[in-house]
Amino acid sequence: MKTRTRFAPSPTGFMHIGNLRTAIFEYLVAKHDGGDFILRVEDTDQNRKVEGAIDFIYDTLKLCNIEINEGPNNEGEFGPYIQSERLDLYKHYAEELVKMGKAYYCFCTEETLEEMRALADKYKRPFMYDGRCSRLTEEEIDEKIKSGEKYVIRQKMPKTGFSIVHDVVYGDVKVENKVLEDQILLKSDGYPTYNFANVIDDHLMNITHVIRGNEYLSQTPKYNLLYEAFGWDAPTYIHVPMVLGEDGNKLSKRNGDASFMDLYNEGYLPDAVVNYLVLLGWSPETNQEVYTMDELVKAFDANRISKSPSSYDIKKLRWFNAKYIKNLSDEDYLKFVRPFLKYDVSDKSEEWVNKLLLIYKDHLSYGNEINELVGIFFNDEINISKDNQEFLNSDENIPVVINAYKEEISNLTDWNVEVIAEVINKVKEKTGIKGKLLYMPIRIKISGVEHGPELPDEIYLIGKEKVIDRLK
Ligand code: GLU
Repeated sequence: MKTRTRFAPSPTGFMHIGNLRTAIFEYLVAKHDGGDFILRVEDTDQNRKVEGAIDFIYDTLKLCNIEINEGPNNEGEFGPYIQSERLDLYKHYAEELVKMGKAYYCFCTEETLEEMRALADKYKRPFMYDGRCSRLTEEEIDEKIKSGEKYVIRQKMPKTGFSIVHDVVYGDVKVENKVLEDQILLKSDGYPTYNFANVIDDHLMNITHVIRGNEYLSQTPKYNLLYEAFGWDAPTYIHVPMVLGEDGNKLSKRNGDASFMDLYNEGYLPDAVVNYLVLLGWSPETNQEVYTMDELVKAFDANRISKSPSSYDIKKLRWFNAKYIKNLSDEDYLKFVRPFLKYDVSDKSEEWVNKLLLIYKDHLSYGNEINELVGIFFNDEINISKDNQEFLNSDENIPVVINAYKEEISNLTDWNVEVIAEVINKVKEKTGIKGKLLYMPIRIKISGVEHGPELPDEIYLIGKEKVIDRLK
């Protein structure tokens, strides 16, 4: 059977990196076997629906080089791929289950359920629907339906024995059936719950491997009972531990946590993000850290997904991103980084701008960071810290070197990195000063700080006039 996996997000118009990592794992499991990757939109909670969310999912996955074989925008033979367009299917299968005696109509009102909850609270028991509607007679049921009473359809759970779920990551998980609640399959508004829809859809869409967050693991025995009732094969389950935020909490949309699009807009390269995310909770057999998508497809093995939760670490992501930026061709790098530059360069030559940007190619962690690095080339004022000022006053040779620079630079007729490099040599010869005392004073005088790009580059980019001015 062809391997088929699915990514099943709710259309919230937001994707944090935990969701994206699930999508990547799903994609890799499918492609490793030469299978298909399907997008299914789980919009049964209509309150969470956001306009344009489906295109947003397509855009995000496309940026990450994840090709969707079937989905709402490229339907295959298993559509529709949006759950709200499949309501009649869920209704049909829910009613089948009622006929089989595996599910029942429940007419309990919100008030009745409230009373049950209050009672559970009183006796300090976890709330669980008590199954009272499963004991209604057929006449009672007919009567209630005829008189227009609202109902849900609930799954009838076995009260004895236990269920075992086989999971690739967690192994065999055993659960006593008596803790399984008679869960709602179909709500009174005709919408299915996730707990029902996921089973129907995964079966009808021929999904072979279900990869999802481990919060669904404890519910999975119920899903298996549904598969069993219909006589269907359950898929292979791969439940993955959560990605925790830097604060150790669950990532959430509400906190605006680690959104992929935010990272993208800050200048993180999607390939780098994908590479970083794959290694968050999955470890390859070798020490290789940097992977192309093709290499990942070859190497990926779900058996090597870790059971422990992983934490999002922006520093590590930056390390990956910097590596990917460094590996870009100069041309691609300039195309990538140029839009991030916020300073006005209308009076600068193209050559100047490119030179400036290229200087940082090997050091940049993310696109937007360029603005933090290049300020010295645009700001009129520079700030020299107290320590640096003290350094400038610390040696009588320093004014000598600075004067020598000023003179040599003023005499220049050409302005390029080569002649500037010569100036540095000349100052060295003329003054007999070398090392830190040769470089540091001019660096601090012209930029305010003791670190920066290569000195000739720095002098060149700041420009002759400004350099002379700052040396005064
Ligand atoms: N809509 C569910 C979610 O976003 C999907 C879980 C699954 O993959 O089955 O968590």
